[in-house]
Amino acid sequence: MSPAILKIALDVPLDRLFDYASNGQSARIGQRVLVSFGARQKIGIVMDIAHATDIAPEKLKPVLQVFADEVPLSAELLNLLKFSASYYQYPFGQALLSALPTRLRQTAPALARKQFLYRLTEVGRLLDVTQMPKRQRILRQIMAALQVAGQLTEAELSNLSTTARKAAKSLVDLGYAMAEQVLVPPRVAAIGVAPAPVLNDEQANAVQTITQQMDIFKSWLIYGVTGSGKTEVYIRLMQHALQHGNAQVLVLVPEINLTPQLEARFRNRLPQFSLVSLHSSLSESDRLHHWQLAQSGAAQIIIGTRLAVFTPLPHLKLIIIDEEHDGSYKQQDSMRYHARDVALVRAKRLAIPVVLGSATPSLESWHNATHSKTSVNKYDLLTLKKRAVSAAQLPAIACIDTTKVNLQHGLTPQLVTALRSRLARKEQSLLFINRRGYSPVLLCSACHWIAPCLRCSSRLVVHLGQRKLRCHHCGHEQKIVQQCPSCGNADLHPTGHGTQRLEQTLAQLLPEARIARVDRDSISRKDALVEILDQVHRGEIDILVGTQMLAKGHDFPNLTLVGVIDTDSALHSPDFRASERLFAQLMQVAGRAGRADKAGQVIIQTAFPDHALFHALRSQDYETYAHAMLAEREMVQFPPFVFTALLRAEAHEYPTVQQFLDDAFQHARSLNHAVTVYDPVRPKMERLKGMERGYILLHAQQRAVLQHVLTALVSALRTHKLAAKVRWAVDVDPLAF
Ligand code: ADP
Ligand code: ZN
Ligand code: ZN
Repeated sequence: MSPAILKIALDVPLDRLFDYASNGQSARIGQRVLVSFGARQKIGIVMDIAHATDIAPEKLKPVLQVFADEVPLSAELLNLLKFSASYYQYPFGQALLSALPTRLRQTAPALARKQFLYRLTEVGRLLDVTQMPKRQRILRQIMAALQVAGQLTEAELSNLSTTARKAAKSLVDLGYAMAEQVLVPPRVAAIGVAPAPVLNDEQANAVQTITQQMDIFKSWLIYGVTGSGKTEVYIRLMQHALQHGNAQVLVLVPEINLTPQLEARFRNRLPQFSLVSLHSSLSESDRLHHWQLAQSGAAQIIIGTRLAVFTPLPHLKLIIIDEEHDGSYKQQDSMRYHARDVALVRAKRLAIPVVLGSATPSLESWHNATHSKTSVNKYDLLTLKKRAVSAAQLPAIACIDTTKVNLQHGLTPQLVTALRSRLARKEQSLLFINRRGYSPVLLCSACHWIAPCLRCSSRLVVHLGQRKLRCHHCGHEQKIVQQCPSCGNADLHPTGHGTQRLEQTLAQLLPEARIARVDRDSISRKDALVEILDQVHRGEIDILVGTQMLAKGHDFPNLTLVGVIDTDSALHSPDFRASERLFAQLMQVAGRAGRADKAGQVIIQTAFPDHALFHALRSQDYETYAHAMLAEREMVQFPPFVFTALLRAEAHEYPTVQQFLDDAFQHARSLNHAVTVYDPVRPKMERLKGMERGYILLHAQQRAVLQHVLTALVSALRTHKLAAKVRWAVDVDPLAF
């Protein structure tokens, strides 16, 4: 047979495979290889093996190394990545390599964390241990244990005796046992086992309905108010899926902050299954190890953030997506995939169910579950209307009109009174303000100059503690200016409220309160958040002040008051999704109040108490609001009624961007009239990190038509004369404009 040519995917911005000669090394599809590319060495993945026909393999560069002892990536995963790269208009090689743990993208060999696993040979199985010499006490002990357990890992041997690991090797020499290298199982912290609660009717119905159809593809949407016991439903579904050997469940969560709590809960309830987490705050070595455990099938529960959707899972039987509406499922750079949508595709191809859960489903999902007439996208809806703990009621929500009362440092008297009463009752409060720093602007009282960021169209945020002005978009930092650069006035005021200022105000107003602040400045490490949350649980904190970091998932039984400070800017944002996001966010924070047997109260400070969003929020009526928002979207033909994509571009000078986008616009228009292409415009943030930005929006009634046009457009733009000067990207199904 003619020598083999390996077609290899590489992490380069070209949408093609590269040919290398196998040079006699045998390789399988999906295997990692090392090749030279230009002056460098790169890791690649074998995508195809061809035999020389028109090219002579000796003219090709040889593959430098085939990592033959590694398990190749499965065809299922490769196909999923192919689909994703094509759908999101991103070079396949880059999509593929960036889905792998960093260690597997590096040219240095990736060492797996392995240990020996001992099994008895036929001779060993038949051996009468009592016939072994008495002085071989340890060997006898190991043999006896092996005959009971069938197999023992090095870790298990160490539990037997300190010398057992070494001794086991001589069993191999004696021909009684054989050793094989396996991945070290996941570390499990010793934890208690939690009893399973009796499901209420709604939960039982959800579990029963879904478990009846576990062998087919189906998308379920569990719409359940906060605290309605969705997680408990997930646990039952996982248990069901995992009960017959060789099964894996993938659980996606929006944020790393949520993984430790959910992880602990799953471990407590499902201790018999091995669980690993996959998220960006793991060390590279742990990440690789967890990924390999998933790939080998040894890990049965995989809980992770969006990238985990691309984990190789040979026995995947169920996918759960918690807080499915959350925007962090969408990747905002490189391949701009949406993990929920990729998960749906993956489940469909595997013919397994996917379960989405939320108290405020995305309008896309709600539409699919309630309106959609086409059967392809139809979700099945399951509703949990009541809170699971019988005494826990949904909190009472009130809006206080900030234009009608005197604010004390940004706080309404009603909120201050409510805070005082919680302190007196030894209950906890949470104040939510979606702005970190001390105050959002530094203002000149004489000429109204505001400290700007010179690299972005934004203002610098005052961080009083560090005496710094900081841009929250590009990270630029400078000393606080003492004099107005515009008029020379020395009377500059930090204006407006951020978390730091709120914390300071509270400390002055309520000196006896124990206050903790949670935002990206105070929580630089994951442990810091866990520590604060533990303190809250132990009752060592009275008032929590924080950003949306606090909104999600946390369950504090003694927390009875939630205050929301100034979210009005989102009410009037030009982004058509802003109100959907705000509603979800406020429902989430409100859901933090009154989780156990104590009634919760929510106070929202706003200058627009009559806004429809607040009406819906007060009556906790997601459905009516969703219905109204969908009607609006349908009228103006916005998603989910049309499919959209953005072509984003940026360069040092706007005219370059303009010309590039004008050409793209002309070209896109000529391709297919079923796709509407809008004129180039600038986003609200015109300049970011020193780059001038613009975009064009495309929309179509059908995904396929839009896909077609995008593919043609992208391939034309790759060779555009300005392609080297302009940074551009296509964002399919964009979430933010
Ligand atoms: P969600 O995920 O919808 O926010 P959880 O599953 O976290 O809700 O449940 C909220 C609280 O209710 C948790 O403390 C959970 O242990 C408890 N819980 C859930 N289901 C039940 C049930 N059937 N009986 C009693 N308590 C329950
Ligand atoms: Zn001034
Ligand atoms: Zn900036």
